[in-house]
Amino acid sequence: MEHPVSEWHLTAEQARNMAEKIKNVEVLNTLAKQEINLTGGEASQNPDIVEICKIFQTITPHVCLHTNLDILSEKSKRWSRLVEIMKLNARVDITLYPTAWESSQKLFLEKMLKLQNKLIVNVVYESLLDLKNQIGLLQNFFQEKGIAHVTELLQTYSEKIATLTNEHPNCDDKIFTTHMGDIEAFASKPDFIFGISLLPAFNVDKNGYRGMTSLPFPRDKYLIGCPAARGSIDIMTIQQNGEMTPCCDVGNLKCQPKFGNVLKDSPHEIMERMETSMKVLASGIKKNHENLKSGKAGMQVEEGIPPYCS
Ligand code: SF4
Repeated sequence: MEHPVSEWHLTAEQARNMAEKIKNVEVLNTLAKQEINLTGGEASQNPDIVEICKIFQTITPHVCLHTNLDILSEKSKRWSRLVEIMKLNARVDITLYPTAWESSQKLFLEKMLKLQNKLIVNVVYESLLDLKNQIGLLQNFFQEKGIAHVTELLQTYSEKIATLTNEHPNCDDKIFTTHMGDIEAFASKPDFIFGISLLPAFNVDKNGYRGMTSLPFPRDKYLIGCPAARGSIDIMTIQQNGEMTPCCDVGNLKCQPKFGNVLKDSPHEIMERMETSMKVLASGIKKNHENLKSGKAGMQVEEGIPPYCS
């Protein structure tokens, strides 16, 4: 399914500029060496994505791309780009979409497994039953493929979730987390490494702010611990326009403090903006804490920090 090229696609030229800047800002270079994840929108729609992948591979061998794998034909440009990317030894990860599973995802996932020996699957779930069904799809798939270590891991997920749906169908997030315990996120053998990430779904209001609570656990406020406000940067999201946010906010969480612009600012300016913004985050998060305690959860603070960031 080829979509028109939109102006928000990152160009190879922009990627080259970003890569050069990243190499020159120590904090970004250190993070980038761990992994660069090309995501947001559907990166496989970008006609330059293969070239962009090569450019970022000059910083780190650990480049990956996230796709919905909602592809209708092997002849599609999106699929040929994904094939090229896997041939470059970059990892392609997917989000499972039950509505696209039978029609496209399953078939293309089979093809992917012939081209790469590693995979992370995101499972976004709206309820425990939904989660159970999605894990079931994956479990059947890997069982059919005869990949025993992945099937075993998914079997553990299935059993744990089945106990919850039977005994605590309306459980809260705390019971869920405790019950899932320290279940492994990875099943790793030299011939195939599999990772799974369970992500609760959220409603988003007309202004683009997500709800305080997730859909599967509507009774608890679902808070994000902000590492940057505590002085550490574990991850950096860089948008196509070069703006940076120090969490996995792919531009969706409406976090206002910016950590500089990779395309426009000098390394010195970036470092200065990072320092200032960290202080702004810390102050906003303190106010979020006060709001939570005084029953004003969800209220926007003037620092522009999402109200569920703590
Ligand atoms: S305040 Fe929230 S959205 Fe902003 S950087 Fe921290 S965790 Fe991310």
